[in-house]
Amino acid sequence: MDIDEDYDTEQSDYGDIPIVESPHSGPDEDHENWSDVSTVELDLSSNRLEPNMDDVPVPSENTFDVTLPAAHSYLGQNLEELRGRTILDDGIYINLPLLVKQSVLFPGQTLPMTVFGTQTIEMLQTCIQNDRTFGVVCYGNPDMERIGTTAEIYEYTDGGIWLDHGRREFRLKAKGRQRFKILRIITQDNNKISANVKVLPEITLEPPFLDQRLASLDHLRISVDSEEDMKKQERVENLDAAVTAWPAWVYRQYDPIRLSFRIRQHLQFLETRGGSVPKNPIDLSFWVAQNILMDHNERLMLLTYDCAISRLQREIKYLVEDKIYVCVNCEAFIGRQSHMFPMNKEGPQGTYVNPGGVIHETITFYHVQGVVLNNSDPSTEYSWFPGYAWTIAICKGCRHHVGWKFTAVQSNLRPKEFWGLTRRSLKNKDLKVKKKK
Ligand SMILES: [Zn+2]
Repeated sequence: MDIDEDYDTEQSDYGDIPIVESPHSGPDEDHENWSDVSTVELDLSSNRLEPNMDDVPVPSENTFDVTLPAAHSYLGQNLEELRGRTILDDGIYINLPLLVKQSVLFPGQTLPMTVFGTQTIEMLQTCIQNDRTFGVVCYGNPDMERIGTTAEIYEYTDGGIWLDHGRREFRLKAKGRQRFKILRIITQDNNKISANVKVLPEITLEPPFLDQRLASLDHLRISVDSEEDMKKQERVENLDAAVTAWPAWVYRQYDPIRLSFRIRQHLQFLETRGGSVPKNPIDLSFWVAQNILMDHNERLMLLTYDCAISRLQREIKYLVEDKIYVCVNCEAFIGRQSHMFPMNKEGPQGTYVNPGGVIHETITFYHVQGVVLNNSDPSTEYSWFPGYAWTIAICKGCRHHVGWKFTAVQSNLRPKEFWGLTRRSLKNKDLKVKKKK
């Protein structure tokens, strides 16, 4: 598969130290001058975790308007808004222009983009004139990369912006919509890729007891909002199961309501910090895939599943215990799942683009470790979080670019500071496995 021009831009930023072409990029020089801002030292040699890490207080006050990052105002205020919504019929075959990205786009996820290549700009302009929809596919396991997600453009810069150095720039915001499978790639002019695709249906299965249930017990059924409700429901389900060939616990593994309830319980810490976790099992399954740090192949695998139940079953294992995040390059400890908090109404992970066109899926934390800052002044230019200035943060162990520290420039803004780490610089490490070492 050929790679579009835009992908080349991203590729150049994916090495050890990203190129410095713009704000929100990585460090370039003068490594000796990094100032150490980490407050708690971690003994990396023994992989030992500080016992008192949980003592770090959660920011108690948040005066930041979490709808602002989701608006991506750094892309400018003069974007044209597109009205309407394209819903493609399940199972239809269509030709779709494609963009290849480094990360998976999930339905429901916002994708801001800054594009420079003439051919890609033309492709996107043609899209806007038609049904506003293009396809996003992702590099990864060859068996799985034939699955992608449609993206629908909802705002764009009309005609593109000509930059001082003669390069043309086109900005847009799109939303992930429906999954598709590539049947045949059609390549034109080396760079333009389109494909004949099949739009994949989302299979919705009702709770497994729905058809098997004893109607005489219907008056005892309630909607589940608490652990107590869940226990009450289980007693009723045990009676339902008694007249079937299987015990109740088998059915429960396939119950979308129960799976959603369990996952939302594990995510309660985000809700207490102002986050909003979807209730609908389908929305929740994609939300978790977007917001919780998982390996790249794991996310690709989730995109291949046709049903929320399968996705939720796979996702729950990421939530049953607190995961720790390490540097993708040197495996130094960086942060933990329980220190995430939402600074974007869409969740603790937001997808943002820098002026160089590089897309960073950024997870916000109120506390990180093993990270140092460069000594440049904090900058508000192109800030993804209006009111906050950013400073580049690198891994203390290997100096790999991991993200940014954001500090409030207005005195009344809370939290006063937080961290945004880019997904591509982090990976999961199982806490249990580490303890055994
Ligand atoms: Zn590192």
